[in-house]
Amino acid sequence: MKAFAYVNAANEKEAIAALGPERGRMLPLAGGMDLLALMKDYVAQPERLVNVKNLDRTVAKTPDGGLRIGAAVTLAALAQHADVRRLYPALAEAAAEVGTPQIRNVGTLGGNLNQRPRCWYFRNEEFPCLKKGGARCFAVDGENQFHAIFGDGPCHIVHPSSLAVPAIALGARFRIVGPAGEREVTAADYYVMPDRNLYGETVLAPNELLTHVILPAPGTAKSATYEVRFKQSHDWPLAMASVALVMNGQTITSARVVMGAVAPVPWRAEGAEAALAGKRISEATATAAADAAVKGAKPMTQNGYKVQIAHTAVKRAILKAGGIAVV
Ligand SMILES: Cc1cc2nc3c(=O)[nH]c(=O)nc-3n(C[C@H](O)[C@H](O)[C@H](O)COP(=O)(O)OP(=O)(O)OC[C@H]3O[C@@H](n4cnc5c(N)ncnc54)[C@H](O)[C@@H]3O)c2cc1C
Ligand code: SF4
Repeated sequence: MKAFAYVNAANEKEAIAALGPERGRMLPLAGGMDLLALMKDYVAQPERLVNVKNLDRTVAKTPDGGLRIGAAVTLAALAQHADVRRLYPALAEAAAEVGTPQIRNVGTLGGNLNQRPRCWYFRNEEFPCLKKGGARCFAVDGENQFHAIFGDGPCHIVHPSSLAVPAIALGARFRIVGPAGEREVTAADYYVMPDRNLYGETVLAPNELLTHVILPAPGTAKSATYEVRFKQSHDWPLAMASVALVMNGQTITSARVVMGAVAPVPWRAEGAEAALAGKRISEATATAAADAAVKGAKPMTQNGYKVQIAHTAVKRAILKAGGIAVV
């Protein structure tokens, strides 16, 4: 690992002052579960790490009945928090499924939402791919069984954050601070496709920090997350879905359906949302929505199997949110 300086920021102001405008030179360090691995593999080679674990980690109620969650909260604390579990089961379920208890005890919400892609070519210093400033995407003609089934590239990663998926389904906003002050963006607008930002995955500038996730009051929305992974694996899901269904009795008034591990960003399935609106919740409705969700998928050479898995994840997330037993 390359030698680096370390700044222990006590608050947002100190953290921002210690970051800089050049990509990759100064990086925020939260739990380190992702960043330290990237540094050991020489994929990230920062000159300075800025500890952001002292930033806000509280889960506070907002005046409108939602929650404002500090980015430094651990995934374990998030998964166990009574209000998060009661109001936003889709988020609590996704946090509870991440990795292992050790990873959840150390990993933070901010680190999870900003973790870098798992593409094995990206993670291997021997492959100078497009995302690292090289000339080609090695996944196109290579080992792409865990890569994207949606999106036109030129990079075919799947976004690795399981928590970004329910954040979008639940209509979250992200608070960002930087040298020019603070701003808020919707979780959906935070993540960008590779044709817009090839070297990063978000709208965050190198000298900005994600400090809070703000969730609107759920109202009558029922939410759930369903992940499909290798049996007994603590690895990332092969595909997942989070849904938020605004209900009037057994009828779905409106829905948000988002798929994970299928595209370079969490992938909103607007066709599925249209298929659900105004329908009574049932297995047939959920199947029709899942059909619509995977319509237009463009698998690569080795990942056609993911289309069926994504279909299953969407269908089961809808049934789970509706309280219908998943068989
Ligand atoms: C075996 C294994 C299985 C895993 N399974 C899953 C899974 O199923 N689903 C899933 O989602 N994740 C999974 N993870 C990833 C894990 O959840 C993340 O690595 C972890 O959440 C990162 O959090 P951290 O606090 O350690 O972040 P760090 O490693 O400290 O940081 C990660 C990145 O975010 C940046 N960053 C950190 N905080 C901020 C901030 N506040 N603002 C802006 N940028 C910031 C850092 O600079 C770095 O680039 C797994 C990891 C392992 C090792
Ligand atoms: S998918 Fe993206 S990160 Fe992976 S090899 Fe292709 S360009 Fe690189």
